[in-house]
Amino acid sequence: MTANDPIASLISLLSRLPGIGERTAARLAFFVLEGDAQYAAALGQALSTVHEEVTRCELCGNYGAESRCGICQDPRRDESVVCVVAKVPDLIALEALGSFRGRYHVLHGLLAPLDGVGPDQLPLDALERRITEHAVKEIIVATPLNVEGEATALYVADALSPLPVRVSRIAAGVPHGGELEFTDQVTLGRALEDRRAVR
Ligand SMILES: [Zn+2]
Repeated sequence: MTANDPIASLISLLSRLPGIGERTAARLAFFVLEGDAQYAAALGQALSTVHEEVTRCELCGNYGAESRCGICQDPRRDESVVCVVAKVPDLIALEALGSFRGRYHVLHGLLAPLDGVGPDQLPLDALERRITEHAVKEIIVATPLNVEGEATALYVADALSPLPVRVSRIAAGVPHGGELEFTDQVTLGRALEDRRAVR
């Protein structure tokens, strides 16, 4: 790739996106090049401003354009039930079910001691504050059903044990090691419904 080869440069940038190989990157680059220039400009604009315009919700960590996300601002959502997820795509998968009417807390990570991610990197202060300030009654830990997700669920349950809150865990059934965001809706809905108390 040379600095003055804009096509090669675009292909190289696109190929860094998850799930996009060199050939798909080339297809996308030529689609943009041969298509509407306005679309290309709008795409570029959206990409270049996403980091400035999107912020983490001060309450739950979800993404949004304001200091509080749409879910935290929605008065119809039940404040007493909070679903803890590892990342925003998992929140989106759960929201797509349409059955959960509580709120969320996004950890933006999982406990991974082998990769050096310990409890210090996964602070629960904000969640603990919410539990006491907003009279939260139940915490549903919806981290993935793999080693890191399970370790994180136990850590959350342990950390919250002094507080007057019920901690439950989504049921097995989500394909083992499977990511929530890639789990089908029937399975995910059942896992949420069949949740059980941790310990
Ligand atoms: Zn929020």
